[in-house]
Amino acid sequence: MSGRTALITGASRGIGKACAESLAAAGYRVVLAARSTDKLEETAASLRDRGGEAFAIQVDLASQESIANGFSKAAKEFGRIDILVNNAGITKDGLAVRMKQVDWDMVLQTNLSGPFYAVQQVLPGMMRERWGRIVNISSVVGEMGNPGQANYVASKAGLIGLTKSLAREIGSRNITVNAVAPGFVGTDMTHGLTDELKQKMIDETPLKRMGTPEDVAGAVKFLVSDEAAFITGHVLDVNGGIYM
Ligand code: NAP
Repeated sequence: MSGRTALITGASRGIGKACAESLAAAGYRVVLAARSTDKLEETAASLRDRGGEAFAIQVDLASQESIANGFSKAAKEFGRIDILVNNAGITKDGLAVRMKQVDWDMVLQTNLSGPFYAVQQVLPGMMRERWGRIVNISSVVGEMGNPGQANYVASKAGLIGLTKSLAREIGSRNITVNAVAPGFVGTDMTHGLTDELKQKMIDETPLKRMGTPEDVAGAVKFLVSDEAAFITGHVLDVNGGIYM
């Protein structure tokens, strides 16, 4: 929908970058957020070259102050944010019995508290406008659990709870809040997995392949569109059928 502004966190690579590209191609103004500005600026420039309106902001989701600063820069450039895609996320895997507090805290701060503070930044404008779309990128493991990822899974399950609570709280303002739960997607996050583990995931996936960032971006584009106006509090699986 031309005229609307979407802010995507974690837009410097992987799923977030694909979301930014897909929304820009659909005519949205996009604000790209992440910690590393070089790649963000590069992506924003290439979107502008293709005729889009794109602006990069440096945000560290683990810092409430950084979120507030980044979002206020976005507001100065583009005004109100109509669409928030909470996509940025990290893993710090380890067995629960030995997990360091810093790894627990960093994952929960980045993946769950950061998205909540980002929501707080955009809600007043959406409530005034009586229109808004929030999409939280969760994960299939947030629905089914995963050994060695207690921190990550707790953050992703937390995002689903946040999604449903917000959907109930702000639905009357015509703001929809949904989650997308990707399965196994080929990005930097999964790049380091062994070939054996990758093959095992593919074997367990009915569609017999890894997902692409574009597979996830397609679901996000739908959920922020006018066609999805009556969908809220939903968790949309984009997982090739590995969990149903
Ligand atoms: P990725 O390739 O590792 O990209 C992560 C993005 O998040 C990058 O743009 C990164 O940029 C940004 N980011 C990380 N920490 C940040 C912070 N503190 N503040 C701001 N930005 C930060 O990961 P991906 O695979 O595209 O994952 C995107 C989302 O999908 C994540 O939430 C992930 O949990 C979820 N997901 C992925 C898969 C999968 O199989 N890949 C499956 C299910 C769910 P900087 O490093 O520059 O900050």
